[in-house]
Amino acid sequence: MEVSTSIPTTLSQTYESQNVREFLTKKYGWKGEVDDIDWTVHQRALKAFPNSRRQTLIKFVHQWLPVNDHKGNQELSPGCPFCLDHNETQEHMLYCNNEHVKKCRTEEISKAIQRIRALRGDPALNQILIQAISSPRDTLETRVYPDRYATLIQNQNKIGWRQLLCGRITNEFVRHHDNYASLNKGTKLDGEQWATCVVKILWEAVLNIWHHRNEFVHEHAKQSDAHRQVIQDEVRRIYQLAPHIDPDDRQALSTPEEKVLAYKNKSMEDWVNRITPRVNQAIRRTHERTKRRTKAITHYFKSVSGPQNPPTTTGTRQRSQQVEQSKVNRTKLTVASFFRKAPKNDDKPP
Ligand SMILES: [Zn+2]
Repeated sequence: MEVSTSIPTTLSQTYESQNVREFLTKKYGWKGEVDDIDWTVHQRALKAFPNSRRQTLIKFVHQWLPVNDHKGNQELSPGCPFCLDHNETQEHMLYCNNEHVKKCRTEEISKAIQRIRALRGDPALNQILIQAISSPRDTLETRVYPDRYATLIQNQNKIGWRQLLCGRITNEFVRHHDNYASLNKGTKLDGEQWATCVVKILWEAVLNIWHHRNEFVHEHAKQSDAHRQVIQDEVRRIYQLAPHIDPDDRQALSTPEEKVLAYKNKSMEDWVNRITPRVNQAIRRTHERTKRRTKAITHYFKSVSGPQNPPTTTGTRQRSQQVEQSKVNRTKLTVASFFRKAPKNDDKPP
């Protein structure tokens, strides 16, 4: 999805220059927590992304992504495009229970866990991260892990574990990895590099979930346009039948065609479902009247010319009427096979 134009285009500059500390303190009611966040890691991870993805991430960490509940999208429904049950906030976009979203999230989390393990960092830190990202949570229990990780867990508890996805990671992670790296030659990354990689991995998962969501929304919009085209074709076909209906029966089509074509999809579909049976009935009546008139005229000419040699003019007219009627029948069949709902009694849009 295109980003909202109401957001500044020089987001990076805005982001760099604003007083982030003051902003977050106010937004989350933080006190000293903001000092525990490793801002160097945050900025390094951000700068590792190409510009367009960086802009998306900055919006994400500020909760400015143009999800449906975003106040910049007042003309759109705020609902989640997947489950239709909740407003689509950023949080909901990530944690919606719809099967499509769950499948995408599970795959992304699983990829992220594999990549974090591949960094060959402290297994206990990996385990803490895996527990934190496997399901949304604000706090972790300190007693589950060795005592030396208690400060790390407490600090991130104060910041919030969901904030990891916003790249707000406590500097205790950096310190612990530095300790681990000094004792283990398996990793070549220092604490800052390792934590930057972790944040990058988490942000790539977020970007992929967002991309998946946007593809779904665009595909849905495309299908909706194609569906509208089909309904509009049916409306046009119904109005093309008007010349085959006697003037007395044409009140069903009293609404101007252009007005009907401008209805919203649901209203237009309802209109077609109401009008089609009425139009078919009107065509049947016209057909019966035509038959009666034809019989009367034929009868008159029979009495003059006899049944063996009907006048050429009458025969021509009858054939012409038959051809017209066969055209109408063909059209009726097409319309009738497309619409299945029961008829109603008026042609007003709901
Ligand atoms: Zn949902």
